[in-house]
Amino acid sequence: MTAPTLSVIIPVYNEEQTLPLLFARLYPALDALKLPYEILFINDGGTDKSAALLREQFERRPEVTRVIFFSGNFGQHMAIIAGFEYCRGNRVVTLDADLQNPPEEIGKLLGAMERGHDYVGSVRQQRRDTAFRRLASRAMNWMRERITRIRMTDQGCMLRAYDRRIVDAITRSSEVNTFIPALAYTYASSPTEIEVAHEERAAGVSKYSLYSLLRLNFDLVTGFSIVPLQVFSLLGMFVAVVSVLVYIGVIIQRWIIAGSVAEGLYALWDRDILQFFLTGLVLFGLGLVGEYVGRIYQQVRGRPRYLIQAVLESGQAAGVTSAESSSVSPTPHSSLLTPHPK
Ligand code: UDP
Ligand code: MG
Repeated sequence: MTAPTLSVIIPVYNEEQTLPLLFARLYPALDALKLPYEILFINDGGTDKSAALLREQFERRPEVTRVIFFSGNFGQHMAIIAGFEYCRGNRVVTLDADLQNPPEEIGKLLGAMERGHDYVGSVRQQRRDTAFRRLASRAMNWMRERITRIRMTDQGCMLRAYDRRIVDAITRSSEVNTFIPALAYTYASSPTEIEVAHEERAAGVSKYSLYSLLRLNFDLVTGFSIVPLQVFSLLGMFVAVVSVLVYIGVIIQRWIIAGSVAEGLYALWDRDILQFFLTGLVLFGLGLVGEYVGRIYQQVRGRPRYLIQAVLESGQAAGVTSAESSSVSPTPHSSLLTPHPK
């Protein structure tokens, strides 16, 4: 099989409702580009019929379709990393399965690459999400811009194109917790952004709960900056200096201006509230240190970032001999089921 020019990587997690719609639009859109391409679906665990649908689609278009089945849910970003490790194209596009990013826009991204950019991000025109999601995103964008050097107008939009060089750099980065668009941005020498259309989710619901979004944003912040930790040491210093000054003031009042301490400066503040505030601050700082330490712990354990159960690809792929992932479940298509060589 000759190496395709374009690889399209799509993470799939319980998307049985959107997959048929995606297939119906994605394949014609890519055929229209008139260049050799491959589509890599990564089934990120999940419990619905997605896996069966992906198998069917593979049978329909085996020459351009490859499917990686994870043995559990490892998350969207790990799915994309796996796609990066397996893809063969010189240019790689990531896309969500839910049709929020129209596949017809892929040509636009490639156009920007033709103009010499090695990483093309995208900005959603008229974002179709709930007001709360938009507000939360805006707040996160603001925070990220302040504490990391990463400038992305729209961090949440996954329709992006990467040059092979960037993809290789990303697969060489063995980060357990990562945020791919930000990583790509730090490696790119000539990044750019273009506007793309945004649609409502074609069907089903978002696979991100508020909690998992919060976790993802912690990954983004802790993975690309230690400013939050530094803020706490500065804040600690500030609070210490202020309390020394206050104490000096109290002593001066007590000794020089005489009078009762309880009526003096010391009683001006409601000490209990101040205590609560400082305790909260300390706990938050401690928790933040915990976020970093937890990630260091995950990283040093060095467990595999994802586990592949099976890979579906047409038998022409060379050298499929090693049986690294042995748990290939018997299926009607087992002749096409090849554990991928690493
Ligand atoms: N996804 C995934 N693993 C997960 C969560 C999501 O592979 O644990 C995929 C999902 O199937 C979709 C993409 O990541 O293709 C983006 O998810 P979603 O549309 O739910 O996120 P949102 O658009 O709400 O940010
Ligand atoms: Mg979505």
